[in-house]
Amino acid sequence: MARAQGDAPVLPERCDVAVIGGGLVGAALARALAAFDVSVVLLEARSDVGDGTSKANTALLHTGFDATPGTLEARLVRRGYDLLGAYAAETGIPVERVGALLVAWTSQELATLPTLQEKAVANGYRACELVDADEVYRRLPALGPGALGGLTVPDESLICTWTTNLALATEAVLRGAQLALDTKVLGATCHADDTVLTTTRGDVTATWVVNAAGLGSDLIDRMFGFDRFHVTPRRGELLVYDKLARPLVNHIVLPVPSSVGKGVLISPTIYGNVMLGPTAEDLTDRTDSATSEAGFAFLLEKGQTIMPALVVEEVTAAYAGLRAASEHKDYVVAVDATQRYVVAGGIRSTGLTASMAIAEYLVAEMESHGFRASRRAVLPPPPTMPTLGEQDCRPFENADAIAADPEYGRIICFCERVSAGEIRDALSSVIPATTLSGLRRRTRATNGRCQGFFCGAEVANRLKESREDQR
Ligand SMILES: Cc1cc2nc3c(=O)[nH]c(=O)nc-3n(C[C@H](O)[C@H](O)[C@H](O)COP(=O)(O)OP(=O)(O)OC[C@H]3O[C@@H](n4cnc5c(N)ncnc54)[C@H](O)[C@@H]3O)c2cc1C
Repeated sequence: MARAQGDAPVLPERCDVAVIGGGLVGAALARALAAFDVSVVLLEARSDVGDGTSKANTALLHTGFDATPGTLEARLVRRGYDLLGAYAAETGIPVERVGALLVAWTSQELATLPTLQEKAVANGYRACELVDADEVYRRLPALGPGALGGLTVPDESLICTWTTNLALATEAVLRGAQLALDTKVLGATCHADDTVLTTTRGDVTATWVVNAAGLGSDLIDRMFGFDRFHVTPRRGELLVYDKLARPLVNHIVLPVPSSVGKGVLISPTIYGNVMLGPTAEDLTDRTDSATSEAGFAFLLEKGQTIMPALVVEEVTAAYAGLRAASEHKDYVVAVDATQRYVVAGGIRSTGLTASMAIAEYLVAEMESHGFRASRRAVLPPPPTMPTLGEQDCRPFENADAIAADPEYGRIICFCERVSAGEIRDALSSVIPATTLSGLRRRTRATNGRCQGFFCGAEVANRLKESREDQR
């Protein structure tokens, strides 16, 4: 029997489709499936959507120029770039098309650049251009000495991963999907016509089950009798520099990728900072997203070579995300028609960009494997998301918004210029913030230079009051 826990809505006993995992991939899938005339439940172990790997990445909308041609990942990143770019324009997810410059530091790397350009063309991306060292320094004057040449990738973009996850999940809910937070799937019992999922909040019986559990996707896969991949958490640590460093970096500065990964980059962020990272370190603990002294030292050393002028700037924050790496080079996405079970796992380094394309691909696969449902004739309009991008006209600088509602002119978080109106909106939105980090992801409050030292108590108080009001 499904039961309510605290003030959480009652878990439905039955549904047509249960999606496990409220990260970018699960939210995109729930949104896509909720466009059909079926009941969808999105099961998330944590107390918010987008609180796993999807909250802590480098937040780049990749063109897919450097993907391995012919892989599903290459195809879905390319498609995802277009789908998410269009969705961002529709919903107000901030995107900045700053472009990337891949820099060669050794003669060997310089010799690799034409191959990378050919790879980009093989991936359907033709805009890369080779540039000499003078042009590299013209574009990036703050770069350290020793750059030998570069490759431009004009369409690589910055995007807000927080708003993306929230927009996809919000639209899923607006389309009728039920979001079950704090609901961890513990087991699955497959029957001829349906599957009973045992969760921390009771059982849910679903006709179809979609596994988008990120770092836990291989564990769920085993519940369905498979043993086809093993997730290794690959930690990526990043440093965020203060906004004063922003004029140093106009483009995403990429290293030449090697067999061990994409390497350490320097990039502006969508919130007006500069980021240095990520590291790549295989762990065993799937929950260890702490930063480390070794990671800090490694990044400072890298930064000193790439852009010495950056590493003397002030670090505002450090964070780490865990990539769900697997032994396979490609995504593990498949449909098992017999058990009506779908897996989207091992989505390592490109899942933000590819999320909507993974959903589009898997829904089509489900349809060709027996998922029979008609598309709803009428769908609600997509949500309009809060304005979080530094380049956007944010509420504090929007005279019309302030005239209509003075709360948008009352600043609570001074570093990030977040108003009382935005905090109020985030606490009463379709998927309201219930934690301080959830509030930060919806507003930027406490995300700035003082990291909440000044506004933290006030923000926490507003969160507490809103929770009390809801009881
Ligand atoms: C350092 C780093 C940099 C990156 N940079 C980029 C980038 O620039 N561009 C890009 O496109 N991609 C990037 N990525 C990759 C991208 O962030 C991931 O591919 C994406 O977030 C994966 O989303 P997901 O939904 O599969 O996983 P997650 O976000 O981890 O979501 C899975 C969810 O499932 C839930 N869950 C797990 N087990 C259970 C269970 N048993 N029951 C219920 N819920 C469960 C978890 O709580 C979690 O919320 C980067 C990743 C990292 C770590």
